[in-house]
Amino acid sequence: MEVKIKHFNLLFKHKFTISKGSKTHQSIIIVELDHFGVKGYGEAPMISYYNITVEKMLEDMEKKKSFLEKFAFSDPERYWHYLHHLFPDNSFLVCALDMAGWDLYGKIKRKQLHELWGLDIEKAPVTDFTIGIDTIENMVAKMKEQPWPIYKIKVGVENDMEMVAELRKHTDAVFRVDANAGWSLEQALEKIPVLKKLGVELLEQPLAKQDWEGMKTLYTVSAIPLIADESCVSEADVKKCHKHFHGINIKLTKCGGITPARRMITKARELQMDIMIGCMNESSVGTAAIAQLAPLVDYVDMDGPLLLAEDIARGVGFDFGKIIYTASPGLGLEIEPL
Ligand code: MG
Repeated sequence: MEVKIKHFNLLFKHKFTISKGSKTHQSIIIVELDHFGVKGYGEAPMISYYNITVEKMLEDMEKKKSFLEKFAFSDPERYWHYLHHLFPDNSFLVCALDMAGWDLYGKIKRKQLHELWGLDIEKAPVTDFTIGIDTIENMVAKMKEQPWPIYKIKVGVENDMEMVAELRKHTDAVFRVDANAGWSLEQALEKIPVLKKLGVELLEQPLAKQDWEGMKTLYTVSAIPLIADESCVSEADVKKCHKHFHGINIKLTKCGGITPARRMITKARELQMDIMIGCMNESSVGTAAIAQLAPLVDYVDMDGPLLLAEDIARGVGFDFGKIIYTASPGLGLEIEPL
């Protein structure tokens, strides 16, 4: 198997701001697996607050390249176990390679992954569109620029309730709110009833990721469902979030790919928790992978390609939030070889 990795720095349409900071570009890596001429692709973005840099991904890949090239690929689940042991502290790189393994597998089987798994794509929920933190005026303008049935509004600043209230004046669309761990328990207790009145459907990660005590309190009183994002990184976290959150936001990059994400979905269903599948501003490569799992979840947040001004592949399309799948096998991508 031949393995390649390449770094891209993709420009956002608008500067992207959340409670943790701003960025103008999304740094990503793309991997390519070549198995007897069939090529599979995967992606991992660089997210500063998860402490995995592009340099670390490139360096880890270089160090273990010979092991990757020697591996006799047969199926993606076996491949994930190999990757997981090869890169125990780099779930981002594991994610990119696992995704590429699944793309390859689908291409060998000449089917898109959702077909291999027997899923009905008509059941895939509509994806939301994210409005980053900005002046209220700019947030309203960004919302109007992209008419959409569901918006996810980033909060976690002092005047955030004012922001949501002003946006509400301009649309009847469904609102989701994401505080990215930006509130204290007191602030959350104060703000949740306001959000309820503004018709907010769910609230993502109100408190710091390790504030389990605070979440236990909030879980019992919250008038809207609470979804864990930063508190739910890997498989073991699903159980920890039970009875602290109503649901979890699974992201392929943080958990280490499609393989563990499928197990997390099974576990969350067992525990009767809501499931969101989310993105980290991936290009169309990572977004196509998220789309394969979309029919299995309750909420979808995969608007990366809509927020970015640049892309490196053609994958799923969007029709007012509805995911439009291609006919290509694997992840369903059209991409230039690296
Ligand atoms: Mg989030």
